[in-house]
Amino acid sequence: MKRLHELIDTYKDFPKKGIDFKDVLGIIQEPLVFKELILKMSASEIIENAEAIISIDARGFIFGSAISLQASKPMIVARKPGKLPGELYKENYSLEYGENSLSIQKKAITKFNSYAIVDDLLATGGTVNCISKILRSVNKEVTGLLFVVELMQLEGRLKLDYPVESFVKI
Ligand code: AMP
Repeated sequence: MKRLHELIDTYKDFPKKGIDFKDVLGIIQEPLVFKELILKMSASEIIENAEAIISIDARGFIFGSAISLQASKPMIVARKPGKLPGELYKENYSLEYGENSLSIQKKAITKFNSYAIVDDLLATGGTVNCISKILRSVNKEVTGLLFVVELMQLEGRLKLDYPVESFVKI
């Protein structure tokens, strides 16, 4: 069986020149490795301390929904523009290779007070910061930020005010 870090491919100059894109999709082609990862992520204090999980469009959904099932915690999605119906909270952010915005449905976060944010990868931290800003602005608690991969050179975690946990450090 391959190890977790061996299932993450690097694509040079994708989607832009100068970016080493880390592709996590190989993990879900190895169910036993995926399962072991989800068990570890679900056992994190960041998840245990949260009432609900917020996962980020789109690869964050893969890991977030599996954690939600394993940990029996509700999952809410943060999505890119034009994807969510209803009244939304929206915030802009910049990332390693561009600008974007994320939205959360207002009604999805009325029931819970504390959230763990889940994504596939931490680069600069702009994406998760955007979601934590939305949560802070409506007086919700963030228990921490959980990633499969962390790009250490970018030092994203230094810019984040919450506990950060990652499982593959590159
Ligand atoms: P950041 O906001 O800079 O921390 O970027 C993290 C988000 O952008 C995650 O949702 C990742 O899926 C994506 N991302 C940024 N840089 C990369 C990269 N080098 N390889 C794969 N995904 C990336």
